[in-house]
Amino acid sequence: MPETPMLFFKNVRMVDEDCGDAVDVDVLVADGHYRKIAPGQQAPAEARVIEGKGRLLMPAMFDAHVHFREPGGEAKEDIESGSAAAVNGGVTGVVMMPNTTPSIDCGAVVKTVLDKAAAVSPIQVLTSGCVTLGRHGKELAAFDAMRNLGVKMLTDDGDSTGDPAVLYRAMLYAKEFGMFFASHCEVPELAGPRALTEGAMAYRLGIKGSPPCAEEIIIDRDIRLAHAAGAPIHIQHVSTQLGMETIQWWKDRGDVKVTAEVAPHHLMFIDEDIGDFDTHYKMNPPLRTRNDNEALLEGLKTGVFDLLATDHAPHTPFEKAQDFTSAPNGITGLETAVVSMFDRFISRGELTWSDLVKRYSAEPRRMMGLDPVPVVEGGVAELILFDEGAETTFSTEFMRSKARNTPFLNQTLKGRIDFVMRAGVVLLER
Ligand SMILES: [Zn+2]
Repeated sequence: MPETPMLFFKNVRMVDEDCGDAVDVDVLVADGHYRKIAPGQQAPAEARVIEGKGRLLMPAMFDAHVHFREPGGEAKEDIESGSAAAVNGGVTGVVMMPNTTPSIDCGAVVKTVLDKAAAVSPIQVLTSGCVTLGRHGKELAAFDAMRNLGVKMLTDDGDSTGDPAVLYRAMLYAKEFGMFFASHCEVPELAGPRALTEGAMAYRLGIKGSPPCAEEIIIDRDIRLAHAAGAPIHIQHVSTQLGMETIQWWKDRGDVKVTAEVAPHHLMFIDEDIGDFDTHYKMNPPLRTRNDNEALLEGLKTGVFDLLATDHAPHTPFEKAQDFTSAPNGITGLETAVVSMFDRFISRGELTWSDLVKRYSAEPRRMMGLDPVPVVEGGVAELILFDEGAETTFSTEFMRSKARNTPFLNQTLKGRIDFVMRAGVVLLER
């Protein structure tokens, strides 16, 4: 463990959720905690001074939907490389998805991945567990054993849990265990080859598209089941306006505990970006339309979406180089989320830093039963520094993920993460 430094951030703009305007302050950090936050301080002689002019200091992010592919998919990513990618993107906590090989569906596999994380990862790594054994949709996974190891989220992510009777029974059990469901919503029969949305682009490329209703039907079904079971539910990676409105309708009723997430790519890209069969725009749920982009961004601002989550889905270059229907779904997101959200929305006044901190740092932690990490005196200094005036080029050299499957590959975007700290340790400094 490196020695815990005393740090003095001079003249930084401080950002937090629910703070209107960022304020310029000096921030003293010692033993991994904020000791004093005030303007015009004198730096202690033993402190290392970090010039903060032009930089923002804010809570580090937390991503409640990542695929680290371990065990079984280590050619794409593993817990160590995934954690390095997270740090590179200003993310200090994650929830891994259980669609690994073998699946994370019992105490033994949960213990294996959490032990590995404790050994190799400098960030907070949580795992979700499967709803059904092997994600086959038949028998329930070992909820109790997983719960005893700290698993809170249950999901068959990558697929819907097909049989509603199985899901309903699972919900009745899980609520007794204090666990909740995260639903990947899709009717497989409607989704076809799961390559892109139904519409003009699908016709042009000659591929059977997945209509929005393939997703919307299951959003409603799963919330309805949770309502009947009296169980909490989380809806993953919503991509359509009507799907979002369905969630809003249930939230307005107020008699079922629903949370929901949206991914950055569903706010930024549309099916036409696929262009000439570019598999860096292939994900599931697929990219939809500009109208959906705009509606979803509004939903992130107003809180229909409690959180932003990337669905970080690494694949090897070989896999992504296959033809469009054969290539696997998904793009990486951990390294690009904060910078791209700044470049596309915050720098244009369409979103505030407070919005981002709330949706990508505080709320995902709350959903997982963790405390947020606000910038307050006495609080834990789990923070990032962001330079709005700098740029980031997402080159192969820049990226720490094993994977390169992102539409931002070799693009230069506004903004740069300069510094990441967690548990008294400086994890990144540029
Ligand atoms: Zn996923």
